[in-house]
Amino acid sequence: MLDRILAAREAVLSGSDITREQALELTRIPEILIPYLAAAANEVREKFVGNEVESCALSNIKSGACSEDCKFCAQSGHYKTDAPVYPQVSVEEIVSQAKAAEAMGATEFCMVSSGWGATNEREFATVLEAVRRVKTETKMFVDASLGFLTGEQMAQLKEAGLFRNNHNLEAAKGYFDKICTTHTHEQRTTHVEMVRHYGIHPCSGGILGMGETPENRIDLAYELKALGSDCVPINILNPRRGTPLGDVEPLKPLEIMKYIAIFRLILPKSTIKIAGGREVNLRDLQANAMMAGANGLILGNYLTTMGRSPARDIQMLEDAGFRVVPAPGSVPTAVSASAAPAASAACGTGGCCG
Ligand code: SF4
Repeated sequence: MLDRILAAREAVLSGSDITREQALELTRIPEILIPYLAAAANEVREKFVGNEVESCALSNIKSGACSEDCKFCAQSGHYKTDAPVYPQVSVEEIVSQAKAAEAMGATEFCMVSSGWGATNEREFATVLEAVRRVKTETKMFVDASLGFLTGEQMAQLKEAGLFRNNHNLEAAKGYFDKICTTHTHEQRTTHVEMVRHYGIHPCSGGILGMGETPENRIDLAYELKALGSDCVPINILNPRRGTPLGDVEPLKPLEIMKYIAIFRLILPKSTIKIAGGREVNLRDLQANAMMAGANGLILGNYLTTMGRSPARDIQMLEDAGFRVVPAPGSVPTAVSASAAPAASAACGTGGCCG
């Protein structure tokens, strides 16, 4: 199987795509060869996106009581979970969280709101104001994950200075109806296409470990490639009590590393960001996973779960050979985890609304 890894590496480094069949072969490599696959993906990452890492802080600006039934999500109003439920926070609160995120070393700040979409005019006006202020008052890129948006809303967000809009596919088309019945995979892909149309960078990824097959995972990577997803967050299910996926067996760290590496080989030029479920699922292999082709991570707390100290994450990235580029004026090691944005509650993965 080593020859398959080397063939895939050679193809991608020389500018070709690997085929779906090649990718599927890589899903079947024995565990002992996963470090070789990771090394190949790391080389591809270095060649196509360099060694600067994107570190993103999430702010959960509105939590819980969602009308949708995503089966991994602790914020769905369909399930009884311990995720906090609160209405949208104020502009001042968002700006204050953004400044704390910048101080802890984040290069990007993403406002995440539970719910189907931005259907409340007053709330949307708050988001627009927050985007303008965070863009003006910090050096970070400003992103948002607000569910389904209209074209007019996207144009307004673009004008306000939004960099990326996050709207994860969550799962491949062939598995999506097993994890959500209140909206469709097609609605999600159409939304991501619209994001691109309005000149906003699309951030779209998915969740591993929801019971999907290797084929589903590979299909998801190719769907994201076809959509031109600029940034691909890879969440790993952190099963939350009360959700239908609350008892799912977690993925093993080596298995996660394998898929991060395969996603990099399929998507050589995208930002691949390790998102929700990182600490709990990867444990001591977090640095190894970063060295399997990723070039981004969520710093600090996730939407429903607490992350470890940002200073430890930044040290890990530097130890793994990445160049961490904090926004000018930030003091990452001097800020405690408790000052991190209060991204306190959302999806079971900690990573995905929208
Ligand atoms: S993932 Fe987003 S849309 Fe789905 S239930 Fe959770 S908050 Fe609602």
